[in-house]
Amino acid sequence: MSASLERPFDLVIGGSETPGSRGEHAPVKNPASNADLAQVAVGHADDARHAMEVAQAAFESSWWAPDDGGRRAKALGKLAGILETRLEEFARLETLNMGKTIKEARGEIGFVVRTLEYVAGLADKIEGETISVPGARLDYTVREPLGVTVHIAPWNYPLLLAIRGVAPALAAGNAAVLKPASLTPLSAIAFGRLAKEAGIPDGILNIVVGSGTEVGESLVTDPRCRSVSFTGSGEVGHRIAELAAQRTIPATLELGGKSPVVVFPDADLDRAARGIAFGIFGNAGQMCWAGSRLLVHASVHDALVERVAKHAAATRLGPGIEAESEMGPLVSPDHLAKVAGYVESARSEGGKVVTGGARVADAPLAAGNFYRPTVVDGAPATAKAVREEIFGPVLMVHSFESTDEAIRLANGTDFGLFAAVWTKDLATAHTTAKRLDAGMVCVNEAPVTFPQTPFGGFKGSGLGFEQGSEVVRAYTRRKNVVINLAVPKPKA
Ligand code: NAD
Repeated sequence: MSASLERPFDLVIGGSETPGSRGEHAPVKNPASNADLAQVAVGHADDARHAMEVAQAAFESSWWAPDDGGRRAKALGKLAGILETRLEEFARLETLNMGKTIKEARGEIGFVVRTLEYVAGLADKIEGETISVPGARLDYTVREPLGVTVHIAPWNYPLLLAIRGVAPALAAGNAAVLKPASLTPLSAIAFGRLAKEAGIPDGILNIVVGSGTEVGESLVTDPRCRSVSFTGSGEVGHRIAELAAQRTIPATLELGGKSPVVVFPDADLDRAARGIAFGIFGNAGQMCWAGSRLLVHASVHDALVERVAKHAAATRLGPGIEAESEMGPLVSPDHLAKVAGYVESARSEGGKVVTGGARVADAPLAAGNFYRPTVVDGAPATAKAVREEIFGPVLMVHSFESTDEAIRLANGTDFGLFAAVWTKDLATAHTTAKRLDAGMVCVNEAPVTFPQTPFGGFKGSGLGFEQGSEVVRAYTRRKNVVINLAVPKPKA
């Protein structure tokens, strides 16, 4: 089941593949079996420095930054086209490395294609303003690329979350250095290999793999790094913010969540149950914006929990690469242990496990990191599993009696990434969306996002936004120019 990939996955620096300064390789695993999948170059601090140097040189000397955006748009559009023709190959790679189902992987790679197309359309629309000022003066602003931008990605949507930062940075004329997560670097490396074919100058897109503390911090602290986009845990996000503050560079932080799904008594319970199951069991629950806390009106609590539990119990677990699998494994044995630990803590703190609550211990899935879709009811608000992000297929259920109580529970967390509302009443939908302390709200739908809509969180969930039409400008700096137009008086 774990087709091992023969060709090693090397770093991509300056348009060339390199095993890195020390020539080391390490295996990455297939989480469906924990068998070795591929050999990946291990980068170190000197590789990070080399990538930054090469990126800076490409930024200064290639046509990429000075272009008006038209040629960049063509190259990014071409990159989208190449990726689209190879979508199946990339989807398989993502599935084998990360574990998600092949259907989910196709959706992820399709989203990357759309992101590239979308930002390609923005590349030649980076405009300044003219500003009215006193006297005989002309004042205008220009948007310039920043220089070398650094992008640090997590393992749950390896290519999507990397490219949603890299693509707008490239569209704005920057040179990018990407560090994918060490567990799941394959799709990013394969993507880096496509840049040349798309006509992107060597050195404008570089991929360096390695540990976060060594390679990640070397990239962020490099004097050539002009901005960092980070998606990952709050703990590392805070470290990145500290490093960025010391260097006075902007940082976009997309961090964790503990997102509420509020279900009112008038909701279509069958649709809601499907959406809730999708929102917490999709990608095996390894989603920053997973709807991980179900807040349901007491009058429909039993009916809804029964429906969601049925979906959970009926979910077919299996290797993502097999077409009939509906949920793949968790990304690693460590992560499996962490998720299982949260469920045990919920049990010991008074939660009732309605369904799931165990890893799959039977052959052939026992060799992989499979954890059953789990519903836990009635754990107190103070329980660790209610307060902290589990990042697995575990739904915590609570009931409420009034709208005020639902809002208080929904907002009573350090996070503020996403929230969902299920109701047929228009006024309830709008007023609840307004009162929810979350960067994104979906009404009567499972979590859904598009390259053209902003994606970002409030409170502990992050700083800044990805996606949407403003994102390309976030990778530019704004310069004001004032010109004195006074004509010197002729000498008498
Ligand atoms: P992580 O924070 O452990 O790692 C993320 C990346 O940071 C990896 O590439 C890692 O190597 C790197 N890194 C680690 N330490 C570093 C350091 N000191 N300096 C620089 N880089 C460093 O996160 P993860 O476990 O890969 O991902 C899971 C987390 O990501 C969850 O908390 C999840 O909610 C969050 N996430 C957020 C979003 C969002 O859009 N808000 C999306 C997906 C995942």
